[in-house]
Amino acid sequence: MNRERSRNLYDRALSVTPGGVNSPVRAVRPHPFFVKRGDGAHVIDADGNRYLDYVGGYGPLLLGHDLPQSVQSALQSQLADGPMYGAPAEVEVELAEFVTRHVPSVEMIRFVNSGTEATASAVRLARGYTGRDKIVVMQGGYHGAQESTLVQGAAGRTSEPSSSGIPAAFAEETITLPFNDAEAARELFEERGDEIACVMTEPILGNYASVPPVDGYLETLRELTEAHGSLLVFDEVMTGFRIGGLQCAQGKFGVTPDLTTFAKIIGGGFPVGAIGGRADIIEQFAPTGNVFQAGTYSGHPLSLTAGLEMLRFAAKNDVYDHVNSLGDELRSGLTDILADRAPEYTVVGQDSMFKVIFTRDGPRDLEGQCEAGCQQNPDCPRFDFCPKDKTDVDRAETERWERLFWPAMLDQGIFLTANQFESQFISYAHTEEDIEETLEAYKKAL
Ligand code: PMP
Repeated sequence: MNRERSRNLYDRALSVTPGGVNSPVRAVRPHPFFVKRGDGAHVIDADGNRYLDYVGGYGPLLLGHDLPQSVQSALQSQLADGPMYGAPAEVEVELAEFVTRHVPSVEMIRFVNSGTEATASAVRLARGYTGRDKIVVMQGGYHGAQESTLVQGAAGRTSEPSSSGIPAAFAEETITLPFNDAEAARELFEERGDEIACVMTEPILGNYASVPPVDGYLETLRELTEAHGSLLVFDEVMTGFRIGGLQCAQGKFGVTPDLTTFAKIIGGGFPVGAIGGRADIIEQFAPTGNVFQAGTYSGHPLSLTAGLEMLRFAAKNDVYDHVNSLGDELRSGLTDILADRAPEYTVVGQDSMFKVIFTRDGPRDLEGQCEAGCQQNPDCPRFDFCPKDKTDVDRAETERWERLFWPAMLDQGIFLTANQFESQFISYAHTEEDIEETLEAYKKAL
């Protein structure tokens, strides 16, 4: 494939933007392709190459690149009325009512502008509400580019910043735990439960190869936080309105957190974030409470219009049935291909998320097939080999993934996420033929 224009644009970008990109994950090797436009389930690059898109903007594009007429008209009408006001608008109430109606934990909601802003505000709120400073996050979890959660270090111990520019004192307030290790969580709460403002976790580690919770794990976090006066925060920036449909992952797993952070899909492809939860906690935000939180663009009418109309469309149409059944088809097809060509590897994901994980020490000799997405089921013959925490995922062969991404899949016109850890997404615009084409491409690539 000729990507000369992209290569030239990248050269220009490199001299005016660090790494040529505005978010590091886009700096793929050997160079990113520059997108000219989206078209349904496809993107077309600056050289006119067409790719079937499973990146989906890293999650927001539940419907793909063509917004339905209802979303487009609402956006055009909002645009004609001006972009934003610095005073409340009806759409803020409408989207807040939509979310509170569908998501079990959400009685009230505050809109912000990104997932990062949502998780940073949720951490401040949890600290303000409980009067405690320590927060707990999962190893391999991602909560955006914010000070309190960019940490590394041994589980249960004092963390260090994982980025330069963050004071060590910030990271010292954050404790990490291995995901799915109920015993480690119990020990930590026994020792220091009364210092912990909140446990923040993605219900599925979507930024670390889609590791799902094993049965009972989220319930354990719910019990421990409740027993010790800490808050449970689900970061549903990625899973919100994707996993579990309109009820989100918390509805699917049947565990109700105190607070939930959102972004991505609730903005319909425009910048957004939100913190929802119990009314008595959310009301601690200014102006009703003393936890300061504010933003010029917060509740931006264009983002909220796009989010509201996209969610209304999803509520009225077979969006979740469609994307989830294509997800099942794709994961099960991939499982068969792996069994045949590369049995040491694993398919992960559920609903409309999926990924192939190149774990080195998979079950080469095991009889019996993995049912993709069954990692919660201890009866599966491969249960022990499916990733359950960061340590499992860290054994993955990232270089092999990079070669799969480019050239093996990209040159066949399939656009996957460029690293081993980021999930991939199916949209309403994908078709059964697309899934078949994708499986053929994986077959060749593997
Ligand atoms: N939390 C989770 C779970 C995410 O997946 C992301 C982004 N991928 C973020 C927070 C940060 O969101 P944003 O990039 O909108 O700041």
